[in-house]
Amino acid sequence: MSIDKSGQLWKGTVAGDLDEFLPAFAAGGYAVERVIHSACGECGGTVFALRVDDEQGYADRRCLRCSHSFLMLDSEDSAEDAEPGECACPCGGEAFELAVGYAMVDVASVDGSPAGREVKWVSVGARCVQDGALGVYTDWKIDYGPTNQLFGGA
Ligand SMILES: [Zn+2]
Ligand SMILES: [Zn+2]
Repeated sequence: MSIDKSGQLWKGTVAGDLDEFLPAFAAGGYAVERVIHSACGECGGTVFALRVDDEQGYADRRCLRCSHSFLMLDSEDSAEDAEPGECACPCGGEAFELAVGYAMVDVASVDGSPAGREVKWVSVGARCVQDGALGVYTDWKIDYGPTNQLFGGA
């Protein structure tokens, strides 16, 4: 992998560059510990159109190979209020490889549930397949637990 940091935008040559980009971006100021790449649940495709609502904490992706749509992370909770907008790269491209960055915090034992690590912040990273530009298109706070199910929502 290689990331070109010389220009205005970080650019990556492969989807794996998001593994370095998301921790460096550190959305919300939290250290990203885990990065999970998106793959279509229907066809395994890895290039998507992305829609987000930055205020509601909502993101959905649509596979560009088979058109299967998927609500990312806990977007189902905010889908009713969300007014998602189509994401576009500064170059105009609207096809992305995606990965979710997970920031974790230690949580104390509550009501008998074990203490452990829970997701505190999620960020949706994208690499434009047209020019390789890397970006975080939305990110939001997670203020509940348990949060394990979020790892299946990339
Ligand atoms: Zn697909
Ligand atoms: Zn682009």
